[in-house]
Amino acid sequence: MQDSHSLLATARAKLEESLLAKGLRRSSERFAILEEVYSRNDHFDAEDLYQAMQQKSYPVSRATVYNTLEVLVDCGLVRRHQFGDEDNTKSRYEKSLGRQQHAHLVCVVCHRVKEFCDPRLHLIETNVGNSLQFHVKSHSLVFYGQCTNDDCETKPVEEPKVD
Ligand SMILES: [Zn+2]
Ligand SMILES: [Zn+2]
Repeated sequence: MQDSHSLLATARAKLEESLLAKGLRRSSERFAILEEVYSRNDHFDAEDLYQAMQQKSYPVSRATVYNTLEVLVDCGLVRRHQFGDEDNTKSRYEKSLGRQQHAHLVCVVCHRVKEFCDPRLHLIETNVGNSLQFHVKSHSLVFYGQCTNDDCETKPVEEPKVD
C-alpha cells in the first residue's frame, strides 16, 4: 500500500501523461483539482468539487472542473458512479488509485454514501465466474436504504423554494 504522498505523485504522473496524450494543457488548475480529489475520502459530485475549490480560493471555472473530471475518469484516476438514488441522478465520483474494490450503501433520503468490503463478494465472483464460464473482471454492488445519522431526515435539499 502506497502512502498518500507517493500515491499523489503517481496520480500526478498519470494525469500528466494523459494530458500530453490528449493534447490538453497541463495547467496548474488541473493538478490542483487532482490534489483536491485525492485529499478527499468521500463520494462527491462535480458541484461539491467546484465548491471545495472555491473555498480554497483557487480560481477554477466550473468548465475546468467538469472537463478535468472527464480526463480523470478516462485515465482511471477517478471512478464515476451513477447511484440513481431516487431524486438524485447526479454522477458521483471518488478517487480510484490505491483503493480496494468495495461496495456501497446509499441513503435514499440524504444521499450519503457508505462503503463496505466483504471477502465473500470475491468468493461469489469466483464461483459464478467458474460455473458460468465467465471471466468476471469487476462488479458493482449498491444497497439502498436509509442511514441512521441524526440529521438524515432534515438535511436541507438543494432545491429552489417556490413561495
Ligand atoms: Zn441518510
Ligand atoms: Zn466508494
